[in-house]
This record gives sequence, C-alpha cells and structure tokens, in this order.
Amino acid sequence: MPKEATTPMMQQYYQIKSEYPDAFLFYRVGDFYELYEDDAIKGAQILELTLTHRSNKSANPIPMAGVPHMAVDSYINTLVEKGYKVAICEQLEDPKKAKGMVKRGIIQLVTPGTKMAQGPDEGQESNYLTSVAGGRGGYGLAYSDLSTGEVFATTVPNFEEVVNELLSLRTKEVVFAGEMPADERETLEKANITISQPAELAGQHAEISYVEQLLSSPLEKKATRQLVVYLLSTQKRSLAHLQVAESYEVGQYLQMSNTVQRNLELTQSATTGKKQGSLFWVLDKTHTAMGGRLLKQWLSRPLLSKEKILARQEMVQALIDNYFTRENVVDALKGVYDLERLSGRIAFGNVNPRELLQLSRSLNAVGPILDALKESGDSNLIAYAADIDPQEEVAADIQKTIVDDPPMSTKDGNIIREGVDEDLDKYRGAMNGGKQWLAQMEVSERQKTGIDNLKIGYNRVFGYFIQVSKGNVSKVPQDRYMRKQTLTNAERYITPELKEHENLILEAESKSTELEHDLFAKLRDRIKEHIPELQKLGRQLAALDVLVAFAEDAEEKNYCRPTFAKKQEIDIKNGRHPVVEAVLEAGSYIPNDLTMDEDTSIYLITGPNMSGKSTYMRQMALIAIMAQVGSFVPAEAATLPIFDQIFTRIGAADDLYSGKSTFMVEMSEANDALQRASSRSLILFDEIGRGTATYDGMALAGAIIKYLHDKVGAKTLFATHYHELTELEQTLPHLKNIHVGATQENGKLIFLHKILPGPADQSYGIHVAKLAGLPREVLREASKMLKRLEAEGASEINPVSQQLDLFAPAPIAEPEPDPDQEAKDDLLDEISQTNLNEMTPLEVMQ
Ligand code: ADP
Repeated sequence: MPKEATTPMMQQYYQIKSEYPDAFLFYRVGDFYELYEDDAIKGAQILELTLTHRSNKSANPIPMAGVPHMAVDSYINTLVEKGYKVAICEQLEDPKKAKGMVKRGIIQLVTPGTKMAQGPDEGQESNYLTSVAGGRGGYGLAYSDLSTGEVFATTVPNFEEVVNELLSLRTKEVVFAGEMPADERETLEKANITISQPAELAGQHAEISYVEQLLSSPLEKKATRQLVVYLLSTQKRSLAHLQVAESYEVGQYLQMSNTVQRNLELTQSATTGKKQGSLFWVLDKTHTAMGGRLLKQWLSRPLLSKEKILARQEMVQALIDNYFTRENVVDALKGVYDLERLSGRIAFGNVNPRELLQLSRSLNAVGPILDALKESGDSNLIAYAADIDPQEEVAADIQKTIVDDPPMSTKDGNIIREGVDEDLDKYRGAMNGGKQWLAQMEVSERQKTGIDNLKIGYNRVFGYFIQVSKGNVSKVPQDRYMRKQTLTNAERYITPELKEHENLILEAESKSTELEHDLFAKLRDRIKEHIPELQKLGRQLAALDVLVAFAEDAEEKNYCRPTFAKKQEIDIKNGRHPVVEAVLEAGSYIPNDLTMDEDTSIYLITGPNMSGKSTYMRQMALIAIMAQVGSFVPAEAATLPIFDQIFTRIGAADDLYSGKSTFMVEMSEANDALQRASSRSLILFDEIGRGTATYDGMALAGAIIKYLHDKVGAKTLFATHYHELTELEQTLPHLKNIHVGATQENGKLIFLHKILPGPADQSYGIHVAKLAGLPREVLREASKMLKRLEAEGASEINPVSQQLDLFAPAPIAEPEPDPDQEAKDDLLDEISQTNLNEMTPLEVMQ
C-alpha cells in the first residue's frame, strides 16, 4: 500500500486515499484534478486520458493522469455511470495564502445512487439510492432520489422481494450490511447495481429525526437512518431538502413483479429499453419534468383503493369537461420548471442565480393556474386549487433581489439589483465613479499630450494602463509616464495617479462581488426555509400535470371512463391496445370485446401465429392498469374489477439476458402465478410449455390450467398453440375457448384480428406456410398428413385428454413406447416445433 511518499503532497495524497480505497480519488492540484497509482492506470483507460508519471526521474515514478477542472463533471459522470465512485478532493484554502502544504479534503463522494441529474434529458428519470436493513420480520427498505429529496420506506418479507423492489425501482446502488445470498448478489451485479457498505457518522444530525418522524416500523426506521447517514456522509453537507419518509405497504398497490412490468412495457420497450413503444410513451402528455416522473411512478404502482382511483377520475373528468380551464392550466404549466429539483439544488447549495429566477417564474405561473381552476366553477377543480399555496413571498423575494438577466456564476457579480443593499450600492458607486474618472483622464491626457489615439485599457497582469502607438512615443511626457510594457505597435505606461484610482476601483470591485456572493447566499438561505412548502407545491403541480395529460389523452384518443364492479366481472366493449393502436395507421386497429362473468375465470385462446392473441391479452392488462391509475381507457365502455396483482408469462425479449434457459424462466414465472395469485388477480399466459418437448409442454400447460381453474380462480387469459387443450372446455366449467378469427380469400389467409367464441380451426398452420411461399409439394404432403392424424383421433396423440385427471399421481407420465407411435410423435414434434419462416425450401423438403 502507501508507497514511500517522496513529497509532503504525496504524503497527504496517500493519507486521504487510504480513507477512500474503493473510489477514484480526484485530487485537486491547481487547475487540474489528478489521479495517481492504480486510479490513474484504470482511469486513463476508461476515460481515455494520457497516462504519464509523476517525479519521472526517481526510481519508482508514480503513474499519473489528469483532467482539467472545468470539464470534471463529464469525467465523473462517465465513471459513475459505469458503477464506480468518485471522491472529489479539493484545495480547502487559497494556495496563495497557505502556509506550507495547501490543506485538502474530500468535499463529496459521488456514487451511482447519489449522482444527480445533469441535463434536461435526465429530467424524467429518477435515480434512487436504496438502503436495506434486515431483522426480525424481514427487510426494511428505504430509498431516496437525492435530487428531489423524496424518501419512501417499506417492509418486505424476504430477500427475493428486496431484489424485486430494487429492480423495479431501477436502483443503481444499494446500501446493505452483511451477507447477501449468492444468487441475489449475482442478480444485482448483473443488473449493474453497486452494493455499498453503510457509512458511519459522528454527531447529531437533524435530517435523521426529521426524515424518520412518521415511521413506526423499526425495520423501516433502521433502513431510513442508514440511508440518511449514507447520504450525509457522502455529500458532506446538510441536506435540508430531504423529505419526511413516506411509508407504504407493497400490498397497497397493484402488485407486479419487475419482470411483469418489463413484459408489459409499461415505461420502456422490452426490445430497445427506450421510452418509445411503451405505455408511458403513449400517455405522456405531461408538460413538466415533475409530471413525467410522477406518471412513471403511477404506472408502476397502480392503486387498489377505489376511492382514490375515483378521486383521480373525477379530476380527469372535470378537466375534460372544462376545456378552457385545461388550456389555461397547460399554458401556465409550460412555464413551470422542476420545483423538486430546484429545491434540491437550493438545499445542496449549488443553485445558481438563473435557476432562482426560474423558480420565481415557476411560482408566478401558479397564480394563473389557480385562477383557471377557480373560474371553472367545477367543485373538484376549485377544491384542488384551494389546497395550493403559490408561495408568492418567495417569488417576490427573488424578483426583488436578483436582476432580470443574471449570469450562471455567483462569482463574478452582476447578480443583485440596485437598492437591495446600501454597501453594495456604495461600492458600485465607487466603481462607476472610478470608471468615469478614467474616461475623463483619457480625454484630458489626449489634450495634454496631443496624442489623439491615446487610450486607457486594462488587463489582468498590469491592471490599468495608458497605451500609445509607436508613432506617437516621442510625444509621451517622460516625467509623468512610466513605461510598463512594450508591444509590437505600441507602448504601455502607468502614472501614480492612475494606479491610485485603479486601487480604488479594484477594491470596490472585489468587495462588491464578494458582497453579491454573500447576498445571494443569504437569499438562498431564506428560500431554504420554504423548501418543504416548495416541495409540496411541486407534488401538487406534478399531479395536476398528469391529470391534465390523462384528460388530453382521453379526449384525443377517444378513451372512456371505466367503472368498477364489486364482483369479479370484466366487461370491455370494443377495447383497444393503446400502444399498438398508436403505431398503426389511424382507424386500422380492430377493437375487441372482453366479457368474463363471475363464473368464468379462464379464456383459452387459440389462433394462428400473428393473428393477435398476445396483443389481445396485453390489451386486457394495460386497460386494467390504466384504469387503476385513474386514467381513462381505450374502449367504448369498460367495467372492471380492481385487480390485486398481475402475472404474466409473455414475450421472450428479456429471456435472452437472464442467462437462464427459456423454459426455466417460463416455469418460474408460471410458478410465481400459481403460488401467489388470488381470485382477484389477472394472469396472462402466452404459449406456456413452448420451451420443452411437445408432450411435456402440453401436459404441463394442461396441468397448470387445471390448477388455476380449480385452486386459484384468477381471471386468466391463456394463449396456446396446443390445439388439443381446447378439449378442456368439456370438463372445466369455468373455462371457455375463444379464438382469433382468420379467413381465406382467393386461397390467401387473412387475419381478422377479431376475437370469436370457440376454438380455432386447426389447419391454419398450413395456410401460414402457404403465405410464406413454401413449395406446393410440401403443403400437399402436410395437408395429407394432417388429415391422417385427425382421422386417427385426437385422443391418441393427445396426452392431455389421456391425463385429464391431472391430480392423479403422475401428471407428466411418459407415453408407452410404441415404435409406430414414436415415429408419429417425432413427426408431430418436428412439425409443431418447426419454424417454417426460418427455413429454406430445401431444408423443409428434407
Ligand atoms: P400472436 O400473439 O397471435 O402471434 P400478435 O398479438 O403478436 O399475434 O399480433 C401480431 C400483429 O398483428 C401485431 O403486431 C399487430 O400489428 C397486429 N394486430 C394484432 N391485433 C390487432 C388488432 N386488434 N387490430 C389490428 N392489428 C392487430
């Protein structure tokens, strides 16, 4: 470890580095941040820096790399994005004034979970740091987005659930002490989640008791305290914007695992990971970044409380009914900046003058919003407005203090208005007086010397000077002017009088910028007192923004207001898939009904590939989710139960990443549903059993259906290509067959995308093959074979019908090895598992 330090500076470096072994240490030296040793070697590689050496001549030169301080943010960003931590070490005193070694110290540890949003692109993203504390009764979980200061806490029974929450929050970093089960650790590492040890902190910190004041669970308190301590010790400053932790029960919301959320593409497309193609993408008509973030939160946590859902619906309805109110609210919302993040920056101390002006402009927009709501005459809108405090004093304070067009920086003055502070005005007067004096001096010197182009200028090195062009040097009064600098075409002089005024001007200038800096900090501190109110206002405006978006969606996309049934009944008239509808040409989406009375729990869906089975199933889930977040839904009319959980087994996009076999993923997702679903849940199973041999798969699919039917009773949509399963309708009273219609026209197969009662006609596979252009000979042969198989009777080749008593001891018994039968099986297997689209005609023949 610490090499023998050759200089006091390196001694200091090794000392500080030893306290941050797992972070890149950015060590400030003048205008650079330097990295040494392994940090330099690794950093140079990742950041594409040049690797050099310090004290090159010694026997053991120290590897070194550096980044300019102006550009440091982007370098830190790159490292943190990759899951690393960066300790920023600053010079804590002015090197010019320091006696001996300049004092240095870590001012902030930037970690993946505490990195704050940089550009506007990140406005809609939340970055959660999560803290997990184990104990009796499971695990307490607390998480916070440092940029907004929001804190949530909950309890989950086991570590599997912890991982599920971490993944659905898309946490980048988890603070956890102790041993993590190996499987879970691996999952987190795969998801690029940094695992950090809890921090320790001496002394009393008001933030801790403030944040945890409403929590009652000891586990949640423990997790929350660990979270706040970690934040304080990495940020190394007071964090006045941390909000009171809000405790919630996972069971308070419609539960969906992270996989389910991804499969349903609620906030991002499963294939691209981008917003486009997701439900969020379709619904997001919000006008503020806060609204965008809230909509995302709502979509991943739909409500269970009918009362709360209806309250949101009422607002949406009111905003639909009052078009002009909505227009006025939208206009005003467009002028509202990110109040939550501005509050964060105020607390953090890095807010700049322009941002404070953004804050006051945002607050000025609240008045018109309230007026619009009140003028609507609608009781819901009026009540919403009554609860909003526009924080006018804060806006007034900022406008009174800050000039109209301030700079970004707080260091160079020109921030504070005239009339705010007497001393400041005095200094400014002196500066102006001095500058006027200079202007007069220029005029009088021109007269005295007769040099017309004599001018007074300023630079950082020499201060004020009199400049005379080469041709006029002979006219310079040698007794009064002292030569200071020679340029190619001119000479520069000073006089004692000039220097005297220079001192006055520069002193006034430095005093005034310093004072402006102080006055700005004071203003910031005054606003700091209002942070909780500003945050509350931010949340209210964000919710309004989302509700307005829902109203716009409903109107523009022709959504209807769903009603909720007491019984477990679904009745959707002409429902549509909101995302597929949005990407198809207008009017080309074929709407479908979905009616399931209390007595029906399973729809078994058959139909050719590409006919729309999976779209129909997803449509159901998305309509349910939209309804439970308070949005209107894409249908002509909809009555729904309130679902408690949603389970899926659909799509294969995510299977590619998990490393598990498709079939294993399939089975564990199925298991999840069988174990946890209640009669109030919704289950979507698409092509269960596809990942294994036909008999195996079909038998499992049949057994799963029977179990769901007899034991679970959840509303289930089950799509299958095992046509044999449709026979189950005869023995399972709560199961019904439906299929997606297709028709032939001039020998071509046409998908109707229309849901019809009963099972699908079996022979469509061959028609699809025909569509794909397979040789006639193959098609003829396939038709013949199909007829033969049908003639032999489905029962002979149908393990499910043979094993319909699935609670018999051996549900997955091997069929008797009959050589003839085996040959048929192989054939059947091959046919059912062959993807004709991916084969060449020759392969098909073979
Ligand atoms: P399956 O699950 O039966 O293989 P999908 O649900 O994936 O079929 O649908 C295939 C394609 O058909 C979709 O990508 C969509 O473009 C189109 N489609 C599905 N349902 C409809 C519908 N109701 N109206 C119009 N087009 C649809």
